[in-house]
Amino acid sequence: MPRIENWSQYRHDALHHLGLDGHIDAIPYLTLPLRKQELLDTIRYNRDPHFNKRRLYDITEGTIYSQAEQRIHGKRIHAAIDYHVPYGTPVAAPACGYAVASYQSAWLREPDGSIRTLEGRPIAFGLGYYIQIYVPEVDRYIQLGHLSDLSDVVHFSKPVLEDRDWIPTHYATPLDELTSGKLDFVSYVNHGDILGQVGYSGLRWGYDDYTLGAEQPVVIDPEVHVSYDEPHVHVEEFYRNQLTGAKTPRRCIYDIYLSKDRYPTPTRVRQMGSEPLLYLDSNELPKFADDHI
Ligand SMILES: [Zn+2]
Repeated sequence: MPRIENWSQYRHDALHHLGLDGHIDAIPYLTLPLRKQELLDTIRYNRDPHFNKRRLYDITEGTIYSQAEQRIHGKRIHAAIDYHVPYGTPVAAPACGYAVASYQSAWLREPDGSIRTLEGRPIAFGLGYYIQIYVPEVDRYIQLGHLSDLSDVVHFSKPVLEDRDWIPTHYATPLDELTSGKLDFVSYVNHGDILGQVGYSGLRWGYDDYTLGAEQPVVIDPEVHVSYDEPHVHVEEFYRNQLTGAKTPRRCIYDIYLSKDRYPTPTRVRQMGSEPLLYLDSNELPKFADDHI
């Protein structure tokens, strides 16, 4: 087995240009899923003493989960980026495309089938209320997870209950149907549109945040129902096999492919990857959804 000296380069070589039928390009087409003006407004009125206002946002997980998070759920690969901002911060479309929204959450199970607990309470894991956007310009999908509510711009597709777990619907709709304009659960969203609000849905800690049959998200009171995780928006990028519906390997939108402390933020100077999928500003940081691109 070869010794891997540089995991970032290794994962870049293995994943960043991996298409179903060969090479795919890696060109910028995304912004942050946040509008700067709305973020600043939310921070100004935020009362969470744990949120550091100076940071604007923090990246709390990268491609590889941090040790602290691995201890909670036992998983190693995240293959996404988590942006920590105050609960309720508006979430914006990072690109234009065809959106579907649903809900996903499953109780974490130990090898013996029992539900995993943390400090005596059962924990669930999943994207919660999430929006998936198919971006035709680059033929890729984006998912934005753990929202606390959805805006009227997107239609909510009710999940189904299987063995006490919530399974989302409509996410694997074939592209010719998804883009046909004939499906009422699909909405076309424009870059920068407000799609919902940041939360920690799906990351339940002893309570339910969806009720069977609900037509709209069940909005919890974050003062009452806390999570084992901080409020954040989870962003992942991938393609779907059109025959099986399965996700292809997810790409790191920063082209960094490491754990959280290797990612640049407004208050953490780190090098950007070589072929990010994000538009960058003059400081080599991702643009916001209300920046000029
Ligand atoms: Zn995440």
